[in-house]
Amino acid sequence: MTFDSPIGVISRLARQLLNWRLFPGNLVLRDLSYAIAGIILLLIFAGDTYAQQTTVTIRVGAEAPAKAFIEASSAPSRNWSFRNEYAGVSELANRIDAFRVFDSKGAEIPTRRLAPGQFTAVSDATTFRYQVSLSPPARAADAARVSWANGIRGLLMLADLLPDYSQAEQPLNGGRKAKVAVENAWRNVTLRLDLATGWTAYSNDKQSGGNVFEIANAQSSVFVIGAHLRTSRQIVSGMLLEFVTDEQWAFPDADVLNMGSQVLKEHRDVFGAMPASRVTLTLLSFPYDSAAEKWSAETRGTFVTLLFTKQTLKNVALAQLSVPLTHELFHLWVPNGLGLSGDYDWFYEGFTVYQAARAGVRLGFFTFQEANTSPAWLMVYGNRHRFLAQHITRAIFCYKVDHILPA
Ligand SMILES: [Zn+2]
Repeated sequence: MTFDSPIGVISRLARQLLNWRLFPGNLVLRDLSYAIAGIILLLIFAGDTYAQQTTVTIRVGAEAPAKAFIEASSAPSRNWSFRNEYAGVSELANRIDAFRVFDSKGAEIPTRRLAPGQFTAVSDATTFRYQVSLSPPARAADAARVSWANGIRGLLMLADLLPDYSQAEQPLNGGRKAKVAVENAWRNVTLRLDLATGWTAYSNDKQSGGNVFEIANAQSSVFVIGAHLRTSRQIVSGMLLEFVTDEQWAFPDADVLNMGSQVLKEHRDVFGAMPASRVTLTLLSFPYDSAAEKWSAETRGTFVTLLFTKQTLKNVALAQLSVPLTHELFHLWVPNGLGLSGDYDWFYEGFTVYQAARAGVRLGFFTFQEANTSPAWLMVYGNRHRFLAQHITRAIFCYKVDHILPA
């Protein structure tokens, strides 16, 4: 005689409800049985995934160009898929090297590389180990969107450092397979950062002591690391705004916090609420000198990355900073505060450009004319829809300037 686990019993019941059609003659009861079975199946998956904690250690030294040495333990898996392209940055997976996997007893399992960043093993592995080159991307502007480190500072973006579990089904107990389990792996990550002496790390993730963090969602988790990072903070309408930098800019840190707080309040008036309880704003130099770029930015989750070229004149520098700042802080609400999935950027970028320009003009950071000719208006990533949306919003903006708002 065998004793089923509670999950086994529920699973058997669900199968009976689904397959044996306990109530064949009664449509209402049959529909009800399907509904109950659905709920039970959800509970089973929730139960199975709950325990699947992923622990990751990332070691980054102070050498330049740096490498990340990564070791992770997770639910048994045979497939690993690393992000190869993101926001126009391609061949990211080529940075992954020396990928090795091990079973629960520590024995190495042979792997095969199917494509850059795509690995498969002959049997289940619970530990995997690899290196990632953190050489800054060839285009300086891309450094706001991917991981890099240059011996002084760096950005660690877990979405391009950890495998995208969601692309591969993984076996659960009893031989079943489910995608839901692996997506959950992104949400239950304990990360330990092993950095060079004197280096510190900041992110929005919960710090559980030392350099150990509980990652709420690895796909939107960003860490700024460096040897000379300093922070300052301000509470804006109940939300914590933390500013992180390591550079001597033409303006004091407090000016950035004040500008950020003004912009956040202006955007809050559009939505009626703050987007999160905590936001980190990081202002760094580009990883290498680039004459072509004045700034580059990305807002991922509640983490705003701004790469900026040093200016000698305070007012010029602040005016230049206000353009990406008004834009990026708006992204905390749209799209990051929304449950959008899919390729909707053609829609929200246009809206963001318009609203950010409106906020910047209202706050006196720049004029209508400056907003109208700023690079934000002219940014086109080869996407016709976005191009169209930007021009429509630009047209609306110009119409408002001419007809509604006073000159
Ligand atoms: Zn944008």
